Amino acid sequence: MRRPLLVGNWKMHTTILEAYLLVSEIGKCAAGLDDRDVLLAPPQIALHEVARVLQNSDVSIASQNVCWKGEGAFTGEISPTMVKAAGGVAAIIGHSERRQIFHEDNEMINKRVLGALKYDLMPILCIGETLEERESDKTFSVLEDQIRQGLAGVTAENMEKTVVAYEPVWAIGTGKTATKEQAQEVHAFIRKLLAEMYEKDIAESVRILYGGSVKPDNVDELMAQTDIDGALVGGAALKADSFCRIINFI
Ligand code: PEP
Repeated sequence: MRRPLLVGNWKMHTTILEAYLLVSEIGKCAAGLDDRDVLLAPPQIALHEVARVLQNSDVSIASQNVCWKGEGAFTGEISPTMVKAAGGVAAIIGHSERRQIFHEDNEMINKRVLGALKYDLMPILCIGETLEERESDKTFSVLEDQIRQGLAGVTAENMEKTVVAYEPVWAIGTGKTATKEQAQEVHAFIRKLLAEMYEKDIAESVRILYGGSVKPDNVDELMAQTDIDGALVGGAALKADSFCRIINFI
């Protein structure tokens, strides 16, 4: 009942030309996948070009971050209206690289989530614990704070349009994947928390993605878990053959 969602995050990789070449390949292998959604998040500068190539395809476009304002004096930011005008439908928000390298806190991430919703972009709220937090048994409290604060002010109606991505920081770009049991345990926790914050029906309808070294050889077992509704993919989304295998998970 929850439609699977596979998201490729290209991070700060690909020039416009490289993005064009990569998306041309991915567009072909995503054709006809009508039981799942596929999103690509190219670098902001290539967003329009990638959206142009994907016009009339089965793949949609996400921005890698988004400002809370429609326009204004926010040097270096991209606004939700700009993302939409370029062909985007969603925005990744609160990625661990934004949190750790650029010091975005839960308060700012919450503003971005509310901004995306205001302008009708689907927010993909990323949450995740560091290795140190996991080893000191703080995983669930860290995730609860990230969810409660990141979703502050999000109405029940808007929650149905929001996606949560669980990305343990220790698994991103490291080649270490959470085991399917570890991932399922956290996803079930997130869904239970959403049921407390909203209603059971809403919690049951929210898509919760797993991210952290998802690869062709582990995607099937991760996707087979009850509460894993999709994947947020970094490194393996930069090669057409591996991303094609991932979006064609069984
Ligand atoms: C990510 O960028 O969100 C990510 C999960 O990266 P990777 O798949 O490379 O671990």
